[in-house]
Amino acid sequence: MRVLKTMENGDDKMHENHITLTIGKQKNIALIAHDGKKLDMMEWCEKNKEILKNHFLNGTGTTARMITDRTGLPVRGYSSGPLGGDQQIGAKIVEGRIDLVIFFSDPLTAQPHDPDVKALLRIAEVYDIPIAHNCASADFIISSPLMNEEYEHPVIDFSKNIQDRAATLL
Ligand code: PGA
Repeated sequence: MRVLKTMENGDDKMHENHITLTIGKQKNIALIAHDGKKLDMMEWCEKNKEILKNHFLNGTGTTARMITDRTGLPVRGYSSGPLGGDQQIGAKIVEGRIDLVIFFSDPLTAQPHDPDVKALLRIAEVYDIPIAHNCASADFIISSPLMNEEYEHPVIDFSKNIQDRAATLL
């Protein structure tokens, strides 16, 4: 769960429209795998089980179920990806309830929910959420010292953004 902090006096101009969000030591991780990558995801979770068990795990429906069946790790499941699960994960990012996304996507297979996938990537970008799109990126993220530390990062101050837009778009 992220914690909000307003920028302090003396922060530079670039930061005046930003707030500081803190990703806690214990991360809320989203796990998603397209069908062609589900086996890879389960093997990756098995390999990193000792690390993953220290965090809160979430996932799209089928991925979550398969990880739990294979590893015994508790994974909170949302709807299946093609039925809106990716959008649910995106909404949780907006609410500050997802800190990190591991998304094994299949670049060789057309996905019926491709727009949802793009929307999830975009919203992760907006909120500066770390997102791994393949096994190597996931390995780099999971072995980062930041996995065991708090991490502060600036993101757009959305309340101020609404206030400014409402005042200027007349
Ligand atoms: P699934 O969804 O875990 O329900 O298969 C993943 C996806 O394709 O986005």
